[in-house]
Amino acid sequence: MMTYVLAAAALYFLYRLWPRESTTAAIAKPSRQVEQIYGCAGVFDRATGKDCVMLDIDGVLHPGFSGSFEFAPAFESLMRQWPHVDIVLSSDWRLGGDLDYLRSYFADDIAQRIVGGTYVEEGGSRHNEIVRTCSSHGITRWIALDDTADLFPPECDYLVLLDRHRGLSGSGYEAAAKAFVEAFGPPQRGERYIPSV
Ligand SMILES: [Mg+2]
Repeated sequence: MMTYVLAAAALYFLYRLWPRESTTAAIAKPSRQVEQIYGCAGVFDRATGKDCVMLDIDGVLHPGFSGSFEFAPAFESLMRQWPHVDIVLSSDWRLGGDLDYLRSYFADDIAQRIVGGTYVEEGGSRHNEIVRTCSSHGITRWIALDDTADLFPPECDYLVLLDRHRGLSGSGYEAAAKAFVEAFGPPQRGERYIPSV
């Protein structure tokens, strides 16, 4: 009988000492840790101004997930008309590369105005991530260019919701230009740009 008791006690202690999968640690992972793991999420390499554009990429700078960046010239045109506005990446692309990698997709003068990427919040919406980022970095006026309504609350007043197939072409460009004026005032440079689509 005593042998069985000792064997059971030994098994119990082995069970307690055996290293286990960190499933609970994964669930309870603090958000600060997540920010450090993924690309440039939550990374800013310089201070922002108070006016920023929160930029999604897929469905905004190209149709869907094509990766063509064919509407990037339209975006860059907008940014040149409001030269004091900074760019913060809210796209999931920010999870896959550092700031310099993502800047390489843009013209040099626009690339240098990309100041960072929004934080990642596990279980949080893109809206939550944007609001937290703006709060942390003193951003007081912003608009978001995005093609996914579900990531934002209904009637979200800063969202410029674009058609994911047309992005910043045609009426999408016009809607974005109107939102820039409403958020940041009249264009400060009169660059003329005719959308190609
Ligand atoms: Mg998108």
